[in-house]
Formats: sequence, C-alpha cells, structure tokens
Amino acid sequence: MYIQTVLGKIRSEELGVCACHEHLYLDLSHVKKNDDTRLQDLNLVLTDLRNFVELGGKAIIEVTNDGMGRDVEKLVEISESLDLQIIASTGCYKDPLIPDEKLPWTRDEFSEWMIDEIENGINGTDVKPGVIGEIGSSLNKFQQIEIELFHGAIQAAKATKLPLSTHTTLGTMAKEQVELFIREGLPLNQVIIGHQDLNEHDEIVLDVLSAGPFVALDTIGKENYRTDEARLTSLLKFLENGYEDQLLLSSDLTRKSHLRVNGGQGYDVVLRDFVPRLKEKGIPELVIEKLLVKNPQKAFSIGKEGETK
Ligand SMILES: [Zn+2]
Repeated sequence: MYIQTVLGKIRSEELGVCACHEHLYLDLSHVKKNDDTRLQDLNLVLTDLRNFVELGGKAIIEVTNDGMGRDVEKLVEISESLDLQIIASTGCYKDPLIPDEKLPWTRDEFSEWMIDEIENGINGTDVKPGVIGEIGSSLNKFQQIEIELFHGAIQAAKATKLPLSTHTTLGTMAKEQVELFIREGLPLNQVIIGHQDLNEHDEIVLDVLSAGPFVALDTIGKENYRTDEARLTSLLKFLENGYEDQLLLSSDLTRKSHLRVNGGQGYDVVLRDFVPRLKEKGIPELVIEKLLVKNPQKAFSIGKEGETK
C-alpha cells in the first residue's frame, strides 16, 4: 500500500500528522463573485502553513479540483519549500462549479478523464492525484450533473483503487451518498464523507459511521457555520460510540480572510486550538494519534482490499 503525493509515491506509514481536507491554491471567485475566495497568494499561504508545520503537521490532502482553480505546479512548489507532503485531487466539485465544457458529460466521460489524470498526470504535468475529490452534492439534493459526476468518480475509484472524498453541502446528503456507494459496490473503506461537522444531526452521522466509511470533521474553526464547542460535543459522542478508527480532522480554509495574517483561524487551527481542547476533555493520546495520523494513513492509502461491514 502507498500514498500518492505531488512529489511521488510514499509508503503509507510515512504520511504523519495529516489535515484531511484543505485548499492551498484555489479560486472560486468566478462563481462566488467575491475576491476573498481567490486564495492564490503563495507567500501568504506559505507563511500561514508554516504554523501548521511547526506544530508537527506533515501532510495535507488538497481537495481543489478542476473548476476550483486547481494548479498542481503550485502545490509542488509549496511541498518543496516547506517539506510538506501534499496529496492532489482529480475530479470536479459540484453545481455550479463544474467547468462549462464538462456540463454535458456523461458518467463514462467523467470516469475516463479521471482515470487518465490518475494514470498519466494532471494537465500535461507528471503530477498524479492521490485522491478523487472533493466530489459534491448540493443542499439536500443531487443535481443531475452531480449524479453523473458521482457515478464517474465511483467508476474511477473502482478501476484505480484511489480513495474517494466527498463534499456535502452543510452536511446534507451524507446518507444518500453512502447508499449510492453501497448500491454501486464501492468498498466504504475507500470513501471519506466530508463536512460532517456541519451536520447537526448526530444520529445521522452515527448512522453513516455504522455503515463503515471514514467521516471527516473538516471545517473546524469555521465558527460562522457552527461553534467548535458544538463540534467537540458531537465528536465526543462519536468516540463514545466506538468510532475512533473512522474519524478525520481538518479545517477547509477557502478564503484569504481565513489566514491568520488576515485575522482568520489559520491552517494550524486544529493542532493549535482543537486538539488541546480534546485533551482537556480527557481524550487519550492514542485516540488523538488515530484522528491525526493513523486514520488518514488508512483512508488515503491506495490499493486497500475492500471490506464491507
Ligand atoms: Zn473543501
């Protein structure tokens, strides 16, 4: 088993402390009509990321894909200058951020394109993606194009054994995503369901966990959506229910104003602020190591044997 970084393959054990869902270079401003969503100043990003590295951060799953301003050469530059392992993505996000030329695509076309990037590299580079993500559904529904995108991503994941990481809008549609993966026969230990810390229905998240996928609490520090105190309470409940081997953490920064220099939470918010709060609540080191190291290592390893629960 191995993990595919932008600089090549590594052994899974080499991953280290990992943020499971981040963006280091992205541009959503063409859709969001807000310049704050153009996170493209490498110097600012590098400065902020240094805090993450200083607190022991070793790896970032970078889920920016086609339509979100993905530029893997920038990721290579960041990886080399900080000695940080970065895993890049193939795929598209969700309506309305799917590039115009892909709007008429069928599932087979999405799948063939993702497989081509996985086998040959992204946009004419030799940089290969290590994850299919973030593949998204809309608020409370799958748009038609998202259904084709999801089926394409599933086909590509089955063919290449890459992990598949999803976006759920405000946490909705997690169960429906899992049901789709089960119907299509994609092993759930190859799946990461995103943004479940925005799902305020703990019983739904517990249901999702019971099916067996990895579940990402990956918007930590975005207190405008939900307080970290509420995230912490939910996480403690999931741990009490025995799901310490399936949970992942991250902060999903997407705006210039999320950087510390601009008054934001910064890429180190999980390590600087959230992990100490977990410790205060009495969560053992061994469990914290699972959340930060062991679970991402398993989730993002390529070539796992499928297992169903
Ligand atoms: Zn994201």
